[in-house]
Amino acid sequence: MAMPLLDVRGACKTFGGLRAVQDVSFSVTEGEIFGIAGPNGSGKSTLFNLITGIPFAPTAGEIHFAGQRIDGWPAHRIARGGLARTFQKDAEFPDLSARETVMLGSSYAGGLSGAAARRATEAALDLVALEEARRDLPSGDLSVYEKKQLMIGSALVAKPRMLMLDEPASGLTRPEIAALDALLVAVNASGVAILLIEHVLSLLLSVSQRLLVLNQGQVLTEGDPAEVVRDPDVIEAYLGSRA
Ligand code: ADP
Ligand code: MG
Repeated sequence: MAMPLLDVRGACKTFGGLRAVQDVSFSVTEGEIFGIAGPNGSGKSTLFNLITGIPFAPTAGEIHFAGQRIDGWPAHRIARGGLARTFQKDAEFPDLSARETVMLGSSYAGGLSGAAARRATEAALDLVALEEARRDLPSGDLSVYEKKQLMIGSALVAKPRMLMLDEPASGLTRPEIAALDALLVAVNASGVAILLIEHVLSLLLSVSQRLLVLNQGQVLTEGDPAEVVRDPDVIEAYLGSRA
């Protein structure tokens, strides 16, 4: 089997006495879409944080990416190494246009400037299919779905090998979730692996090749998405005790 692109080995993160992430291990292959599910507070976002080093590294365990051990690296070095992420909240700079926002991303994570940054910006906005006529509007004027396109475009501008998305479907209508599904498939087809946290299970099941379920900071199960969601332990974790 090929070497994994991302290899998380026994990752832990504690906050005082709280074990938010406990001995989590999994790996993602180049070009794969790997889903992460779990109830609220199960440690999904914390897991993303410790993988990308924003804002903290794991308290124990190792993170390997593209053959290098990256835990403890500064976040910008991880980003330039090909690992890009988005956050649960939307656009940070409502007065900046989509073009300006993506340009900022290109200088931060891509190390690009000038003409190269402008080309990378257009390529990223093309990949997420943000309409040309919307690209110079203040991003605060964009629709909820367009802000998602912008958020993903900003992460893609550095041409990452893996994109990490934290609940990108939140706030979207069903037709918009269908559009996001197609967008993720297109981004993946362009050669980018995707690590996807999502509470909209239909989206997760549609796009993921493998699915991991976290519960109380630990891996409950991992495997074929259709089988994972039929697992009685997974059903119980989501619905609570049926007693
Ligand atoms: P999820 O994304 O699965 O909803 P989180 O990773 O956000 O879960 O949170 C997991 C647990 O860690 C929760 O109990 C949460 O309150 C706690 N937690 C997350 N971030 C912090 C933090 N910065 N400081 C203290 N506790 C935190
Ligand atoms: Mg979260």
